[in-house]
Amino acid sequence: MPGNLSFADLQDAVASGEIDTVLTCAVDMQGRLMGKRFHAQHFVDRAWEETHCCNYLLATDLEMWTVPGYASTSWQAGYGDYVMKPDLATLRRIPWLEGTAMVLCDILDHHHHAEVPHSPRAMLKKQVARLEAMGFRAMMATELEFFLFEKSFEALRKDGYRGMEPVSGYNEDYHIFQTTKEEEVMRAIRNGLFGAGVPVENSKGEAEAGQEEINIRYADALDTADNHALVKNACKEIAWAKGRGLTFLAKWHHDRVGSSAHVHQSLWTPDDQPAFFDPGQPHGMSALMRNYTAGLIAHAAETTYFLAPYVNSYKRFQRGTFAPTRICWSVDNRTAGFRLCGEGSRAVRIECRIGGADLNPYLAMAALIAAGISGIEQGLMLEPPFAGDAYEGDVPHIPATLGAAADRLEGSAMLRAALGDVVVDHYVRAARWELEEYDRVVTDWEIARGFERA
Ligand code: ADP
Repeated sequence: MPGNLSFADLQDAVASGEIDTVLTCAVDMQGRLMGKRFHAQHFVDRAWEETHCCNYLLATDLEMWTVPGYASTSWQAGYGDYVMKPDLATLRRIPWLEGTAMVLCDILDHHHHAEVPHSPRAMLKKQVARLEAMGFRAMMATELEFFLFEKSFEALRKDGYRGMEPVSGYNEDYHIFQTTKEEEVMRAIRNGLFGAGVPVENSKGEAEAGQEEINIRYADALDTADNHALVKNACKEIAWAKGRGLTFLAKWHHDRVGSSAHVHQSLWTPDDQPAFFDPGQPHGMSALMRNYTAGLIAHAAETTYFLAPYVNSYKRFQRGTFAPTRICWSVDNRTAGFRLCGEGSRAVRIECRIGGADLNPYLAMAALIAAGISGIEQGLMLEPPFAGDAYEGDVPHIPATLGAAADRLEGSAMLRAALGDVVVDHYVRAARWELEEYDRVVTDWEIARGFERA
């Protein structure tokens, strides 16, 4: 059970007054928790079966704008309802909020109760089911990075996000002393998540001032995505409660490195054997792993949108920053888009380094699994690993802009076959809307550059 609270235990905790609130959450296109705060009594009496939300929740942008141009919903269609169906296996305690439990929901069509195809959770479940039909479990981990700031979210917003100071005055990669200073927030995050049933491995300082990384133990892809969505929300809530702000933007400042969400991937058999491991093969990589990795590489430009969904995401892809710029794989080399980890061991796995901390984990893993399956189905051959500095290499580039990534997504026969045309078209529209808004809005940079000098 991925959560840590059975429905019977919730009923007891409600009866005793220990729990009075159940957060009933769906995951939106941006990977955020969206939903309602139920009185726990009503949840155990009625709402555990289903509740409802406006179907614009899968058709808004970050600012909850009613975005035109979606086939799934619109003003014309009247913005009706979806069903939110609690997945009781995800029920858990939320230790950092008093008297509170939480459950994740699947999003179903209001009329025929089928899962909505462009719902991120449904998209990942579909790809996991394809792998299961082939006899494999996808075991994944996402390494999430973010920046922690001195001031609160409210103060940063009031300042117009100018003059922002991270909590550290220097690069704190692996630093114990500096991270000791940040324990008021980070210890509360680790322990809070652990108490919510999330298998926290560690947090560490990352390679910039104020940058943090949090690692969660690898798990089945759906559990990893659920954990990721909860971790992001927990980090924000706990930082907020401590009077701090933080950001999962891929690049909050052009002079600082970006924040990533590397995705570690391995396939296992139902009886818990690592199907990516073959001790008799180079690097311990099985033929299956070579095919899967070749699929990731062959389709990397097509899946990039799901790893880098905003205009800002592409500003992270800078040479010499540990963020990749090229599509190649390597053995334990952090300059390449894909890195082999756990070489020659049962933990052998492929790490995709393309994704930023702003990715939606359900979409990212759905797209990566689809690419891997395509490699397996076609028996794609894996090129030899890249060695050296991939920033300088003669290898293909990761799409450099959101527009380029959206074009590759739109033209991807692989993703259209795996996810469905309706789903691909939905997310192409999301990408294009970001670009339309970016083109419309006058930015600080333009004013500062041209106000006096143009
Ligand atoms: P690093 O040295 O890059 O920090 P870690 O050993 O901390 O690597 O592992 C990074 C992530 O990889 C962790 O979240 C861990 O749970 C995950 N991981 C370990 N083994 C596997 C595996 N076989 N498949 C997928 N993820 C794994």
